[in-house]
Amino acid sequence: MNLKAILASIFILVLSVSFKPAAKAQTYDNYPVYSGNDLGVSWSPAQTTFKIWSPSATAVKLRLYAAGDGGKALHVLTLEKATDGAWKKTVKGNLKNLYYTFQAQINGRWLKERPDVYAKVVGVNGKRGMVVDLQSTNPAGWAGDKKPVLKNFTDIVIYELHVRDLSANPNSGIKHKGKFLGLTETGTKNPEGAPTGLDHIRSLGVTHVHLLPSFDYNSVDETNPGAKYNWGYDPLNYNVPEGSYSTNPYDGNVRIKEFKEMVQKLHASGLRVILDVVYNHTSDTSSNFNQFVPGYFYRHTDKGAYSNGTGCGNETASERPMMRKFMIASVCYWAKEYHLDGFRFDLMGIHDVKTMNDISAALHKIDPTIFIYGEGWTAGNTPLPEDQRAVKKNAAKLNKIAVFNDDLRDGIHGGWSDVKSKGFVSGQSDLAESVKFGIVGSVEHSQVDYNKVNYSKAPWAAEPYQTINYASCHDDNTLWDRLKISNLNASEADLIKMDKLSNAIVLTSQGVAFLHAGAEMLRTKHGVANSFESPDSINALDWSRKTKYKAVFNYYKGLIALRKHHPAFRMPSAEMVRAHLHFMDSGDPGVIAYQLNNNANGDPWKNIIVIFNGNQSDKKIIIPKGDWKMAVNGSTVNEKGIKPIGPGEINIAATSAYVLYEE
Ligand code: CA
Repeated sequence: MNLKAILASIFILVLSVSFKPAAKAQTYDNYPVYSGNDLGVSWSPAQTTFKIWSPSATAVKLRLYAAGDGGKALHVLTLEKATDGAWKKTVKGNLKNLYYTFQAQINGRWLKERPDVYAKVVGVNGKRGMVVDLQSTNPAGWAGDKKPVLKNFTDIVIYELHVRDLSANPNSGIKHKGKFLGLTETGTKNPEGAPTGLDHIRSLGVTHVHLLPSFDYNSVDETNPGAKYNWGYDPLNYNVPEGSYSTNPYDGNVRIKEFKEMVQKLHASGLRVILDVVYNHTSDTSSNFNQFVPGYFYRHTDKGAYSNGTGCGNETASERPMMRKFMIASVCYWAKEYHLDGFRFDLMGIHDVKTMNDISAALHKIDPTIFIYGEGWTAGNTPLPEDQRAVKKNAAKLNKIAVFNDDLRDGIHGGWSDVKSKGFVSGQSDLAESVKFGIVGSVEHSQVDYNKVNYSKAPWAAEPYQTINYASCHDDNTLWDRLKISNLNASEADLIKMDKLSNAIVLTSQGVAFLHAGAEMLRTKHGVANSFESPDSINALDWSRKTKYKAVFNYYKGLIALRKHHPAFRMPSAEMVRAHLHFMDSGDPGVIAYQLNNNANGDPWKNIIVIFNGNQSDKKIIIPKGDWKMAVNGSTVNEKGIKPIGPGEINIAATSAYVLYEE
């Protein structure tokens, strides 16, 4: 589901209907394909070469400016026709830090002045590109930047964060509020003295920070970032960091340098960095794509209008060679230039399987530990045939690419379409099979009855790393709000139990674990589900909750440490999961119990029993013979053992998770 911009999209839809694409899909197939890898701007102190692909243009102009906005052009130059629909111009002299635009004449009409789609940096609000000397944007020590070690994708614990949310609240104690640099500050504390920001993320123990869109997006005015908030799912310049997150959006060098400083600091803090990428649609159809090759980069309906599989008024066409080429080049550029460690694809189902696999191959050639995942669905009808979509159902066709497990998510807290519906953790025992589906990492397992699983009636993951297990993310209500809305009569103490059980399920299941930032302190957006443009007062992390709900934070932290210390919870192959994970007969439909046997995945513990009681009453369960100790119960995590457990019948408290082990 993607509800990011419903209102905005209606407006865009109105605009897009009046903008007729220049040609129908069939003619796009006749466009030449540019085979080189030099589109964009190539700078050296002696000369700069400008190159764009605009096969239907009859003339292309290049303007050079002193600033990113305002002022008259210093020079107006004409590009020369090159091979395969490209146009180019080499300008002698050092053009470093000059701004530029291109303008194409198509069908006798001059289109808008814009940066090229390959622009590496832009001036304020993304109106003009800038000639950049990338080397000079590297922070000190950048060449020595080292990624934290990653052995298997199943070792990953993701923390999904919006750059601005981390620091915007006055109680963050962070100086650079709403900025990339806010993520580099250490020693920051809330008024009660608890660590915030980067120190907080580090101590929580996650392995990867996933940043919501941090490329240049449209909706926040970079000259006055405080006036408006947005998640950033409205792309403008794909290869450029967002200006409102920099301390100076007017100087193109600053946003690049500060983004790199953030990555460098996160790496040095033991955290890998994932960028949320949104190639499935553009902010609107007056995009840079359309100024140089009208219509080509988008899909259309039979009648020639923009198709809208994204719910945002347009959808791109990854299957067209030059869009595919652009996407591959764009992620590879981010991976190499910014040392990124992963990419999360928004509405990945809009992209075709081949493009995603080509992206995977290209990125893994750069670094085999780069992690790729996406939303395995679309938000509306798309002309792309279903068997070609990079959707959940086709996950097994995707090579080293994971998808979000909404089967588990909604099994935990209840279905997305009815916010008041309950989930396994609030006593809905008929959702137990969807939880079991998540426990096995969405792979084939003989003890899961797939007919009873929420949406997928079949195991869609070939290997456990292909499933992103989660209880909540930026979309929809926070986990805490959702539990409150769907359990109106529950006490706060009971809601806390449900919350802890929810992410205890996520953090002990096979696959990749994913947390929405702030879940560990019961984050609230005050019941606003689609907060894509809500103010900071709704979206920003409220650090006072860290002190107020300290026990919850410690519980999450303990579970993450347990997962990291015990490889049994992150088996790398489906075969291993089938060999070592066995469900027990719990004797109650609202209780799930399973064993991880025989030092699974080299675990120091010989056998492990995990029990989830989703009922609102205590239950008894028979524990097999053995020398069992308890490491987790509903209130605490202690890997050294809370207490020994005799064999036979034991009591499992209402709404809680248990982990027992045998050494
Ligand atoms: Ca922007």
